[in-house]
Order: sequence, then C-alpha cells, then structure tokens
Amino acid sequence: NNYAASSERYETMKYNRCGRSGLKLPAITLGLWHNFGGADAVENGRIMLRRAFDLGITHFDLANNYGPPPGSAEETFGQLWRQDFAAYRDEMIVATKAGYRMWPGPYGERGSRKSMLASLDQSLERLHMDYVDIFYSHRYDSETPLEETMLALDQAVRQGKALYVGISNYGPVQAREAIAILRELGTPCLIHQCHYSMYERTLEEGLQDVLEEAGVGTIAYSPLARGLLTDRYLDGIPADSRAAGASVFLGREDITEAKLAKSRKLQELALQRGQSLAQMAVAWVLRRGRVASALIGASKAEQIDDIAKFLSQASFTDEELGAIDHILGG
Ligand code: NDP
Repeated sequence: NNYAASSERYETMKYNRCGRSGLKLPAITLGLWHNFGGADAVENGRIMLRRAFDLGITHFDLANNYGPPPGSAEETFGQLWRQDFAAYRDEMIVATKAGYRMWPGPYGERGSRKSMLASLDQSLERLHMDYVDIFYSHRYDSETPLEETMLALDQAVRQGKALYVGISNYGPVQAREAIAILRELGTPCLIHQCHYSMYERTLEEGLQDVLEEAGVGTIAYSPLARGLLTDRYLDGIPADSRAAGASVFLGREDITEAKLAKSRKLQELALQRGQSLAQMAVAWVLRRGRVASALIGASKAEQIDDIAKFLSQASFTDEELGAIDHILGG
C-alpha cells in the first residue's frame, strides 16, 4: 500500500504563474467537492489523488463544507495525505474555504471574523495540517463589513495558518474593494476562484479585467459544466453519474435537450481537433492565458488521465474559437 510518487510527475504538466505572485499553479487543479465525502469510497479517492499527483497536479481544492456530510471531504483528504503524501507536503498546494453554512447558529456561516477563524481551525483539525496554502472567503457577505472578512484572512496568514488568501464568487465591485483592503493590510489577494466554462461566461463581463489589473490570479471552477461539457450525458444519463446521484447541483432536469444539442456540436468540433470534449472544455478556459488553472472534479482516475492529455492540443485557431461562439450563441 506504500505510495511513491512517479519520478516523471513534473515532465508533462504546465505550471502557470498565479497573477503577479510568485506562486505557480498546475494548469489543472483537482477539486474535492464531490466524490470524496463520507458516503464515497475512500479507496477510489486514494486512487484519484495518487493519479493526479503522478500527473503533476500539485493543487487540491477543498472547502469546510465539502462532503457530504459537511467536513468529510477534508477528513478524507486529511487521512489520505497522512497515509500517502506526508513526504510531499512541500510539493502540494492545499486550499480550503469558509463562508457557507457549516455549523448551527449565527457563527456557522458567512464572513464574520468569528466564523471565518473558527472555521479555519476546524478545517486544519480535519486535515491534520498546521497550515493550508490558500484560505478563501467562499462568498461575499452583505451582512459583514468587507474589512472584517479581509482582516480575518489577513490574521490567518499572520498566525501562520495560511500562506496565501483568496476570494471566491465575488462580483467585480466587491472584488476590487476586497483586493484594495487586503493590499492595504499587507496580505495581497493571491487569487479569485470563480465559475467559468463555455456555458458560464460572466467572468468575461468585467471581473477578469479587475483581476488582471490588480495582478490577482484566476482559477476557473466547474470548467466541464459539472459534466455537461463532457461525453457523459450525450447518450443518456448513466447510473454512476452526478446527475443520477443525490447532488442538488446537477440533476436530471439540468440535462436539457437544448444543452445536449450544443454539447453534441462541441463534441464534433473536439473530435475534429483530435481530443475529447472534456479536454477541449479545459483548453478553452485556459485559451487566453488569463486563467491560471482549470479546477475540475472527477469521479474516476481515468477522467483525470483524459483531462491531463488536453496539453497536447491546447491552442485554438481563430476559426475554431469562432465556431465555438457560434455554437454557444445558437
Ligand atoms: P467540473 O465541471 O469539472 O465537473 C466534474 C464532473 O465532470 C466529474 O464529476 C465527472 O462527472 C465529469 N468528468 C470529469 N472529467 C471527465 C472526463 N474526462 N470525461 C467525462 N466526464 C468527466 O467541476 P465540478 O463541478 O466538479 O467542480 C470542480 C471543483 O471546483 C470542485 O471540486 C470544487 O473544488 C470547485 N468548486 C468551487 C465552487 C465555489 O463556490 N468556489 C463551486 C463549485 C465547484 P461524474 O461525477 O458524473 O463522473
């Protein structure tokens, strides 16, 4: 059961500088939102983490509430990293977040200093780690002054419990303000984690410019549209897929004919490029060099293998980009 990482793990992965920081992130990051909870098989999680690390995926994304049940993804990751990756801690970037409901009462969610710092302590305990590499505010909280939430992030760094801080799901105006406060506090905002895929392009409407101007990196979550931008649903809803399962974030009703029609056309284009739709979807979010990393999820190691191969066909011609826009607009 002893794991020794592949000696070739750094040979093919690409590493992109995160904004104007000194930190490089792998083009692909593995998220543990699904498939690492208490209800999921730990051994499958182990296989996925090992495969990812062997492919040069050094960045793993978590949050306090990932599971289900909430907290169990951090527990699974904590157990697996102690068993398999303890020797590799300095080769890994581990992120967690606070902001969504985690425990009962007024302090179990949102952005107060009370909630943020208690949540980070709980995360570190579940992870069995002394620090995380990135600590995020998971969402903007209109009931807490932004200064208070940013001060909590700053304090986490000063306490040595996080090396960098980030924000997630903030709009352009909130992001600009948060970045300015953090700069003033002396703890620069490393990264913004936002939803971005061929099916979700809000990032392009102002936010990306704010981040670039400030030198803050971008990591794009759900670049595969939770499975819709893969071949997963093109011939029906497989029993082992997310849409067939208990996830409330992708259900059978989300697999619409209109979406499938677009995905089928995109798949055709991907096949012409000599790659899978999932590979093209990842290449697309990274196409302009404005996004540092594509933050994917997976339920099987083979899916991670497939995605990692996108690097052999990562660029697009103007004609291909035009054809994609045409399909998305149609
Ligand atoms: P994706 O859009 O990458 O969807 C992942 C799903 O796509 C997998 O679970 C799998 O579906 C399917 N898939 C993956 N690879 C392949 C492949 N090669 N071929 C066919 N199907 C494939 O992202 P997620 O929605 O899972 O989100 C990724 C991560 O982003 C999360 O784990 C989390 O870390 C982060 N996130 C952050 C949020 C935030 O608010 N900050 C919100 C949402 C996500 P199946 O399981 O059916 O096999």
